[in-house]
Amino acid sequence: MPSFPLAPGSAIGILGGGQLGRMLCLAAAELGFDTVVLEPKRGCPAGRVAARTLYAAYDDPAALKKLAAASAVVTYEFENVPAAAVEQLAQLGAHVAPGGQALAVAQDRLAEKSFLNANGAPTVAFAPAASPEEAAEAVHQVGAPALMKTRREGYDGKGQRWVEHAQDAAAAFAALGGAPVIVEAACDFVRELSVIAARGRDGATCVYPLAENHHEGGILRRSIAPAQVSAAAADQAERIAARVLAGLDYVGVIGIELFELADGRLLVNEFAPRVHNTGHWTQDGCEVSQFEQHIRAVAGWPLGPTHATHRVEMLNLLGEEAGQWARFAAEPESRLHLYGKRQAEPGRKMGHVNRVKPL
Ligand code: AMP
Repeated sequence: MPSFPLAPGSAIGILGGGQLGRMLCLAAAELGFDTVVLEPKRGCPAGRVAARTLYAAYDDPAALKKLAAASAVVTYEFENVPAAAVEQLAQLGAHVAPGGQALAVAQDRLAEKSFLNANGAPTVAFAPAASPEEAAEAVHQVGAPALMKTRREGYDGKGQRWVEHAQDAAAAFAALGGAPVIVEAACDFVRELSVIAARGRDGATCVYPLAENHHEGGILRRSIAPAQVSAAAADQAERIAARVLAGLDYVGVIGIELFELADGRLLVNEFAPRVHNTGHWTQDGCEVSQFEQHIRAVAGWPLGPTHATHRVEMLNLLGEEAGQWARFAAEPESRLHLYGKRQAEPGRKMGHVNRVKPL
């Protein structure tokens, strides 16, 4: 059992070696921690900066044993880590944060939306379906047009399909592979917002100002933060975050995606039990970034301040756009963050730029 707060020099394990893992490693290093990354793919972004990288499948028993032995606490940078891997780590006596419950709920859109509603966080109407007949019934129930999403393993708009009429439900269900789905009512939102929040080991919570998010082709393109929102909207977001964090007995940073309705109400779309792309602005718009905040939380340190010091427009650099690094580097207001990925592919997140302005 590690003793919290973890002393600098301790090692923090991270499942996943993508850009989020890389930025967690950098933040951990700033506080004097070592990081041990477990990731299947060689040459991963985090592997270039971690103190140690174990290249193996997430559920490789020998690698999990090494990770547990080397780390005072283990965290993760994406929510599709196999639940069995986290169970094995726990059996090995590792301290995993956020815990298995947050991961299990976030991995299943039905469990997630049910959890949210049960904890007083409103969502669109939804219904589950596991057969073509149930899919048609679910569309009837929530009303067409509706959005059908696979319960598991969807991200960046993948694994979902619009259903214009109930008679199209069976075809959409088949096109999504015949796996269990949820059918969601179409949300007529005016804006997409998100809130990044954190909960420490002592139960203390903190919330960053909201971000306004713009997607293209299902992928986040831009976030503007702090978003211009009413005090009532900020209040709702804070209440939602507090309920979700408490309901999951959460430790770490969470990203909660919200729909803002014309009447000012906020609905939760989904949450990610990890640092979040819409929180990258905090690197240059706050005193303590979401990455440092996450490390502080899992290490049992006090949480840091979350108020904005600057206004930021965060732009994701997708595919070949990162090749324009010299142009961004020449802009005085731009802070460039590149992920060390060697291969640009269309839509691949290669880096981001935070354009910083006075508040
Ligand atoms: P998700 O994979 O759930 O994050 O959804 C990706 C994007 O699809 C969201 O950012 C929204 O733009 C859109 N979306 C998701 N759910 C709904 C919904 N129920 N109604 C309208 N648009 C949605």
